[in-house]
Amino acid sequence: MLMSIRDVNVSTEIWRFHCVACRRGWDREFEARRVEGTGGSHVSWSLDGVASQPPWVEPTCPGCGSVQVRALPPDTPIPRPR
Ligand SMILES: [Zn+2]
Repeated sequence: MLMSIRDVNVSTEIWRFHCVACRRGWDREFEARRVEGTGGSHVSWSLDGVASQPPWVEPTCPGCGSVQVRALPPDTPIPRPR
């Protein structure tokens, strides 16, 4: 029996993160696996080959451990630090 999945689209997205607390900036390469099915589309994320939360969910600063982190989608210009 065929599954109801119509299309699977895997893309690599480089997200930028910016810590509000210590002004650190970094980026991470996520893999987005987008499944188009009869019930709508669903995206599952992985980071370094491991299933992860979406990039914008509870990002934590690797420098100071703050959770006041802004996640910037790909192609969003990041403010230049002064
Ligand atoms: Zn920080």
